[in-house]
Amino acid sequence: MGHERPTVPPAMELELVTVGTELLLGSTLDTNASEIARTLASVGARVVRRATVGDDGKSIRDAVGDALSRTGFVITTGGLGPTHDDVTKRAVASLFDAPLELDQEYLRKLEERFRALLRRPMPPSNRSQAEVPRGAVVLRNQRGTAPGLWLHGTPGTVVLLPGVPHEMRHVLAEQVVPRLRKEIEAREDSVSVTRSRTLRTTGIAESALATELEDLQSRLAPVTLAYLPGFEGTDLRLTVSGVSGEEARALLDRAAGSLRPALGAHCYGEDDTDLAAVVIDRLRERRMRLAVAESCTGGLVGARVTAVAGSSDVFAGGVICYDDPSKTRDLLVPAELIATHGAVSEPVVRAMVDGVTRRFDTAAGISVTGIAGPTGGTPDKPVGTVWLCARVADSDRAVVRRLPGDRDEVRQRSAQAALDLLRRSLEGFERL
Ligand code: AMP
Ligand code: MG
Repeated sequence: MGHERPTVPPAMELELVTVGTELLLGSTLDTNASEIARTLASVGARVVRRATVGDDGKSIRDAVGDALSRTGFVITTGGLGPTHDDVTKRAVASLFDAPLELDQEYLRKLEERFRALLRRPMPPSNRSQAEVPRGAVVLRNQRGTAPGLWLHGTPGTVVLLPGVPHEMRHVLAEQVVPRLRKEIEAREDSVSVTRSRTLRTTGIAESALATELEDLQSRLAPVTLAYLPGFEGTDLRLTVSGVSGEEARALLDRAAGSLRPALGAHCYGEDDTDLAAVVIDRLRERRMRLAVAESCTGGLVGARVTAVAGSSDVFAGGVICYDDPSKTRDLLVPAELIATHGAVSEPVVRAMVDGVTRRFDTAAGISVTGIAGPTGGTPDKPVGTVWLCARVADSDRAVVRRLPGDRDEVRQRSAQAALDLLRRSLEGFERL
């Protein structure tokens, strides 16, 4: 990739150590690590390495010690609870040769919290949460009982945060970010940031997208481009680092401005934009109501639409017509059509959209019929074959797609492709 070295060095580099045996087992997704990295990037602190360790003192001590020897600044999450498996505080304190001391004021607050909020006396095990390594700053946690801690000494700086995601988020935003800002300002006159923007695309394969953008990509520097494929399509993440916030915004505007025309109909929005919300907006602008007929998606399209707050002014309803008789009984799809062409066919998907829009008396409609697998595929209609149809006023468009993945993936991709077909029809794009 045409990656240029940032002209201004990042204001601060640090490492993350997330603690929890459940993270190693894979039973809990490490959402804290990505959330912390994202939040810190916006203040000019960059996570350069992260590690995950189980709830055991030696692993924690080793991981934090190694990280300190590289960057001198480490943030940890997890292992601050009152139970015997929570050992992060003790392990990190030992790196600083700091004995644990009872913080009387915190103990009093903790006891008060139990009395006032939880209406019961504090269990003795929680007493350990009021033990603080000597010299550490206690970072208030108004969402739970485990406070964060900020240790600074010869080995460097370690910030300990609770593992529960909403508590971590709260302590990070309220206590850590303001302190980091001050620290960064003290280190540098000009604060440099890392900023990203996402252009969301769908209906085009990642490789095809990369080919289309090949020439453009090298001209985006210092903005870098990452391709993030998923069920919903491929997100293009634009990133710029090592410049001021203002410069970052201007550079991202310029890069997005040159990419969007090249992406054309494939791009449906930026950042957290959901395709269903875009479809609803377009329908609302044209004062059209929507009905959906779903076979293989079994209600996923309806679920996507109704997940958007305020969808009731455009969404009428839908029919899950899973078996063949239901397509005939509930949507008036002629039985001969199904017998002749099969349920997964162009004539049937067209008849489905006709039936559902008549039944709900709407101007717009979506229909989906396909083979989600793992069984039911044939040589000419393999698993992943999905027919989609979108109606906008008196114009119907039907397309067939071969979607990759397992059953769940095919169903999710079908719902997305169906919404996208309607969006393109509403936006008047010829290219499908
Ligand atoms: P702990 O503070 O280690 O007792 O963690 C409390 C709870 O927070 C655990 O049961 C996990 O479900 C959750 N948790 C801990 N670490 C993480 C993490 N890195 N990402 C997401 N959730 C976490
Ligand atoms: Mg834990």
